[in-house]
Amino acid sequence: MNPEELKKAWTAKWRRILDNNDQRMSHPEAYRVMCHWETRDMLEAGVIDEMLKLDMDEQANAAYWHAVEELVTSTDQYQHGGHYDVLPQTGAECVGRIVSNTYYSADGPGLDGFDGKVFGDSHGSRLVFRNGTEAWILKGLRLTAPTGELYDLVQTAQSVNGVTYPAIDDPDCYRTLVDLAQIALETRDFDSYRKTRPLLMCASFTQCATCLDRFGLREDCVSCSGDGFVRKPSRQPSSSA
Ligand SMILES: [Zn+2]
Repeated sequence: MNPEELKKAWTAKWRRILDNNDQRMSHPEAYRVMCHWETRDMLEAGVIDEMLKLDMDEQANAAYWHAVEELVTSTDQYQHGGHYDVLPQTGAECVGRIVSNTYYSADGPGLDGFDGKVFGDSHGSRLVFRNGTEAWILKGLRLTAPTGELYDLVQTAQSVNGVTYPAIDDPDCYRTLVDLAQIALETRDFDSYRKTRPLLMCASFTQCATCLDRFGLREDCVSCSGDGFVRKPSRQPSSSA
């Protein structure tokens, strides 16, 4: 392969990574890193120069920020570092827990200490049990068993870089974190934003869909009483969670 062919093929590979919308929306931080790793390798191999790398990385950064801005109001996204209680929609007791993609049954885990794993690919996500081949479909934060029974995942904590943080249930704490995240977003401070984002997503609150927490609209908003955020439906105090 001559240098021109190499550049063309490698640029096409980078473009495929950049255009991977599933990855961008489900793992924005990993998506950005993957794009940057590719251009780093291209620069090291002499396929692109510093200027072109900057330009390509800027495209990946813009795609990342676009994704996370969209995801601010998404309240039902499954997070890979999340800890969840699995609750039957019938209101019955919790049947198990999912901790960082591993499922533990409430009535005691199996021989190897766990009972299932959550897998995800372009066809969607599913909880696969160790015993047998049964798989439950995972869509958003809802599991569907082959029998049609429905289960809700209620997040209790979130692991970020190996540290486990309990889901934020204090309004003042949530407000402070939202403000920090907003500054990080506005200044395109990736390192700060990637730490706040999973914590905000696993909090008991979410941005108010009526005023979108916008200055000038928030003050008179009846949906959130001026807070800019509301409690997630699954976290209402009346819930069995
Ligand atoms: Zn509002």
